[in-house]
Amino acid sequence: MTAQRIVLASHNAHKIAELQRIVERVRPDIEVVGYDGPEPVEDGTSFAENALIKARAAVRHTGLVALADDSGVCVDVLGGAPGIFSAYWAGHQKDDAANLALLLDQLSDLADPSARAAHYTSTIAVVTPEGAEHTVEGIWHGRLAREPQGSGGFGYDPIFLPDGESRTAAELTADEKNAVSHRARALEAVVPILAAL
Ligand code: IMP
Repeated sequence: MTAQRIVLASHNAHKIAELQRIVERVRPDIEVVGYDGPEPVEDGTSFAENALIKARAAVRHTGLVALADDSGVCVDVLGGAPGIFSAYWAGHQKDDAANLALLLDQLSDLADPSARAAHYTSTIAVVTPEGAEHTVEGIWHGRLAREPQGSGGFGYDPIFLPDGESRTAAELTADEKNAVSHRARALEAVVPILAAL
């Protein structure tokens, strides 16, 4: 089957913009449309399960091939938390600033950068109306800064220092972030799947 349109199953405008730019680079012939249907309950216990839940809901609602990302920040010393709970670490109001402040506070006694190791994970699910399901993962390693820096990106970007960088993810340009981020890496892994649609 030749897909002409893909629905991006996300209500997060920042993530849609990042995903859209990357899909357009990989498959400029495919029109990317947003999703305005109901948001399913994300009751999976992994990034992959939650990405599949979102993609399946968008397929049901639109009849199009759907691509969904589930992502979060995983802190080593917290055993991988916030992980799948990243969007509402400080409560279900999903407040990025409150989430970041709580995480900074939880790590405030840890001064050694190596104790503040963390990574972003993005799992992308692609689900077709015919029922084919794929998941791929991208990881971006780094550590958490002690103070927020920068105003780009979203979420935890002002405290995420990618490995080999002295700037936080919020101080990178969108293009710099999109070249190396967890979502960019997951999308590179999804290229063969998109190419075969
Ligand atoms: P999701 O929308 O359920 O996948 O939740 C993703 C959450 O993880 C976001 O609300 C952010 O808190 C965090 N997150 C994921 N990717 C990024 C990123 O690229 N920058 C900053 N925070 C991110």
